[in-house]
Amino acid sequence: MSAVPRLWLVALAVGLCTCRTEAVREPRPAAEPAALRYNVTYVREPEHAIDVEIVLVRGAPREFHFTQDWGVDAVQAYGGAGDVRVLPVREGGVSAPRGTRFLRYRYPVDALIRERGPQLFGGMAQGEARHLAGRAWLLRPRALDPSLRVELSVNGVDALLPWEPGPDGLYRLSAEDLIDSGFHGFGGRRCQARLPDAVIEVAILGKMTHLRDAEVCEWLRQTAEEVRTVRRSFPHPRITVLVFPVPRRSEANVFGMVLWSSPPSISLLVGQDTTRAQLDEDWVALHELLHLTHPTIIPRTPWISEGLATYFTELARSRSGRQAPERSWQELLTGFERGRRQARGRTMQQMVEENRPPGIYWVGAFFALRLDVELRRATGNQRGLPDVLELLALQGSTSTVGAYGAAVDAVAGRPLFDALLAEELRLPAFAGLEGLLEGLGVTPTPSGVKLQRARDSLLREALDGQSDSSAQ
Ligand SMILES: [Zn+2]
Repeated sequence: MSAVPRLWLVALAVGLCTCRTEAVREPRPAAEPAALRYNVTYVREPEHAIDVEIVLVRGAPREFHFTQDWGVDAVQAYGGAGDVRVLPVREGGVSAPRGTRFLRYRYPVDALIRERGPQLFGGMAQGEARHLAGRAWLLRPRALDPSLRVELSVNGVDALLPWEPGPDGLYRLSAEDLIDSGFHGFGGRRCQARLPDAVIEVAILGKMTHLRDAEVCEWLRQTAEEVRTVRRSFPHPRITVLVFPVPRRSEANVFGMVLWSSPPSISLLVGQDTTRAQLDEDWVALHELLHLTHPTIIPRTPWISEGLATYFTELARSRSGRQAPERSWQELLTGFERGRRQARGRTMQQMVEENRPPGIYWVGAFFALRLDVELRRATGNQRGLPDVLELLALQGSTSTVGAYGAAVDAVAGRPLFDALLAEELRLPAFAGLEGLLEGLGVTPTPSGVKLQRARDSLLREALDGQSDSSAQ
């Protein structure tokens, strides 16, 4: 067995989403020389490794580090007179001596996988394909200088990085792009999932037993379409998804994660032996794609980000027609019960402080449901939580809890967020669940959820999309 199950747990423990500011870049004249140039050469002999040369010119920074200190022991610094100094990597970084013209190092992909086992960021291998994250192998300037321009070229491999290369194959970036440089696929095969307003570039990094590449891309296209039941358009014109088949596993999704590169990049670990029917039942890919519908909340606030993605993962599947609304409500109820078992009578405030999955996901999803219902009550069932996401998207790629609350109030047309949150935080988690369900006409029975007419059943139909289908 591979080390993937262990990795799955480790990755969950460190949290699903990392936050960063998405770069908004001014167009720059092509003739201007870059301040930092990365020449990346992928080598396969005697085993897979990445050779990196960083050319320093014109006031380039001299302090560099790996976002995640992973596996490079030393960096060579080349001076103008041909002198070479070996700089040991200390605390994840190096300081280039004055007069340094180049930094060179090798990231030993396969040696590290052999030593430490497969790791989501540090490296995973299947056949000739490799899955990495830039944070492990890419040495980046320690200080953020928004004006610093970066050029990056990759030779010797077909790479899928989060950014779109220019016609000359060169990636033109800002230093900000290197803060979280996302997931990187090397080798493997490519397909595209095309939406009316976006394209998803997919790297399939290994062999699928039962699925053709086109089927994998079609599954991702259908899943991405469900994101458009929450937002009016797909949140980015182009994103990248790495699909890594996990040997000897048959479930559709072993693990998924989005990294906040600019644009975001997604990794999906898919059971190698999974079937198309199992993919149709999967929710992990949708969950990760739904993270693109909300801004990055700073500081990181999982009860909002995971709550939104978890809540909409269920609703989007009935809004798209993939599953009956009864199933969506059943899934939400099952999740709320899981959360309630973890809470053991504790308040939402205590759950937020504990910040542990799965409870934090479901506490957040319950609050998202409460907000959505209150927004619909306040606006005569005309507006809801998706309108809050549209408003936030106009304000930029990052937000705060305060700005999130202000957007809720703006959509509601009156102050609502602070009082609702304060009330919810001090109550035992999920305290109002039964009353809320009764109002919506969602009735749990031993044979599953029944949906019935009730005071707020029209609101419920707006949430799960049934009002759209019944109007047709
Ligand atoms: Zn998530």
